[in-house]
Amino acid sequence: MFSTTLSKLRPSPIQVMAEQTRQAVRAGRSVVDMTLGEPDFPTPEHVGEAAVRAIAAGQTRYTPINGSVPLREAIVRKFQGHNGIPCTAADVTVGCGAKQVIYQAFLATLTPGDEVLIPAPYWASYADIVGMNGGVLRALETSPDTGYAAQPQALAAAITARTKWLVLNSPSNPSGTAYTAEQLLAFAEVVRRSHHRDFLILSDDIYEHILFDGTRFATLAEIAPDLRHRILTVNGVSKAYAMTGWRVGYACGPRALVEAMTKIQMQINSHTSSVSQAAAAAALDGPQDEVRRRCQVFQHRRDLLLERFAGIHGLRAPRPNGAFYLFPDVRAFLGRTAPDGRMISDDVVFASYLLDEGVAVVPGSGFGMPGFIRLSYATSDDRLHLAADRLAAALERLS
Ligand code: PMP
Repeated sequence: MFSTTLSKLRPSPIQVMAEQTRQAVRAGRSVVDMTLGEPDFPTPEHVGEAAVRAIAAGQTRYTPINGSVPLREAIVRKFQGHNGIPCTAADVTVGCGAKQVIYQAFLATLTPGDEVLIPAPYWASYADIVGMNGGVLRALETSPDTGYAAQPQALAAAITARTKWLVLNSPSNPSGTAYTAEQLLAFAEVVRRSHHRDFLILSDDIYEHILFDGTRFATLAEIAPDLRHRILTVNGVSKAYAMTGWRVGYACGPRALVEAMTKIQMQINSHTSSVSQAAAAAALDGPQDEVRRRCQVFQHRRDLLLERFAGIHGLRAPRPNGAFYLFPDVRAFLGRTAPDGRMISDDVVFASYLLDEGVAVVPGSGFGMPGFIRLSYATSDDRLHLAADRLAAALERLS
């Protein structure tokens, strides 16, 4: 019944954990859910009001496939004014979330066997999207010792004649690692020196606004103008403005690529909702102080969790400078035995043991890095303390 494309989709450990968590909650168990990849804040009020105004004004019809003119103009102002990336409304395309934009970029460019270089740990969907489009993911290994930052030498060694894309996601889901301009410039230098074909670079900037300790956001198209003709800069409103359900993501890049992505979108869903597009324009053009305030809240939560984790022997959690995830190394606990006799053989069993103890996390193997776990701290201080208490007690009971 099913296509070969479908067979490329692996069972997702994230979905498996999310389903097990739902079952546990339905069974009446108390679970602190740290699996979620979305801010726990509401969408800012003025954004919702802009959507209501759009409905009242009859903005309920088809928009251009690449996005309404007012939204694309707001995106141009954002890329030019905020990121220093010159572009026009014709270089921008809008999709149903950054996910659709990324999907279309790979669908438009990958031929079977093309390689996509991505530092691990990586957002799990990259692996599936690349696979569904016939590409081969080549992970660049990183280490907790260097805060999961990919190293330029590793990139240089991984580039081959088959390389089609390099994906950079800073700040990163799942590690929270954000690259400085200097680190990005080192990657740019490797790209310039490569004598293989001119592969493309996808800069996934969706966590741009969630940065800590005064880290300044940098993106490759801003700091490497000579590579702009090869860079697709992807962003969206989901994480910055707590708008995950509105489904608006966007990108700017080489005109031919952006047009090809739009051409594909025309035969999939035409465009995202006209009302969501009006809301997204209001988010981009509106006041940004709430974004900054929320960022401070995330930083406070990161500090709270790291402080609690410092007191848990064997749990090693590097300090991320962005996003809202921690990616602790739990290899010290593998091979131990739970009170019910279960052997904690890998990060998947580790995560299901933690779920039984009332904390839901995602095993690192879902992000291409077994032996680790991802936890999202997009939840209240009280819940974070409760999670840390349960985690400490659960790990204490392993022998
Ligand atoms: N990129 C990364 C790294 C993400 O974590 C996500 C959301 N989990 C997305 C892209 C997609 O976001 P959206 O489709 O909601 O814009």
